[in-house]
Amino acid sequence: MQLVFASNNAHKIREIQQLIGERFQLKILQDIGCYDDIPETQSTIEGNASQKSNYIFDHFKQNCFADDTGLEIEALNNEPGVLSARYAGDERDNEKNIDKVLKNLLPFQNRNAHFKTIISLIIDKQEFLFEGIAEGTIALERIGTNGFGYDSIFIPKGFTQSFAQMTAEEKNKISHRAIAFKKLARYLKSIHQS
Ligand code: IMP
Repeated sequence: MQLVFASNNAHKIREIQQLIGERFQLKILQDIGCYDDIPETQSTIEGNASQKSNYIFDHFKQNCFADDTGLEIEALNNEPGVLSARYAGDERDNEKNIDKVLKNLLPFQNRNAHFKTIISLIIDKQEFLFEGIAEGTIALERIGTNGFGYDSIFIPKGFTQSFAQMTAEEKNKISHRAIAFKKLARYLKSIHQS
């Protein structure tokens, strides 16, 4: 079966292809001639993942999936959430985003947070959602230099290191994204067998 992933990130595609095996032929947006600026205007992570997959299904009539991720911090009413990439402004500056989180969290003792990835899969007009959560806490300051986004201030539950102190391999064993994509892969394998 051919499946379109609503992304042009070649690195992500390779990882996912490995997870789901050769039974599914993955295409990325450029493979189907999609160069559109796909709207992400919803107020939730679920809503944005769903909006992206529905856009591809409606415009290209192809089975597809899309993902969306955000950092949700308890004391900040789950901010930055859907705004994670542009929390400190439209320039999408990771360092400014981190500064804003650390500043906003100063009055609070509760530093619990989680990353959430949602994948929306559409097969033959039917939509399925898969969720991956990584629980943890927000550090008092940046620790580590690996990774991207908020990795340097996120300490996953059960660990003393931040995501940014882990290798990509270590992070990928426990990350929100890996959990969600493994659920997607398990589901795809199950429907392909039946
Ligand atoms: P996206 O939906 O995967 O593009 O993620 C949106 C934003 O969430 C990114 O721009 C990052 O700021 C943040 N983010 C997503 N995943 C991670 C992660 O694994 N580590 C740190 N930050 C992340």
